[in-house]
Amino acid sequence: MQKKQQSDLKKKSEPTVVERRLGKHNADGLYWEQQNVIEIHPDLDAKNEIYVTCHEYNHYLHPDWTEKQVIKYSTKMAKFLWKQGYRKVKNK
Ligand SMILES: [Zn+2]
Repeated sequence: MQKKQQSDLKKKSEPTVVERRLGKHNADGLYWEQQNVIEIHPDLDAKNEIYVTCHEYNHYLHPDWTEKQVIKYSTKMAKFLWKQGYRKVKNK
């Protein structure tokens, strides 16, 4: 099981991350496994944006995880990154 997931991940390229208004999905972020796309709702505050990005990336990394596990680990990662001073640089 673990071996299969690792090889699946090797084959799969990093997900494409795009900004899209997700109001109709009632979500701040979504991960589309088939298309391998992460969508992030624009206009999130900086802290929430880090959390949502970690959250959707964990869905990509760990397709077997429950939502509860994703939330638990994404919260830890986002809090840690925020505390270390990481912030998104807007390139546009
Ligand atoms: Zn989720």
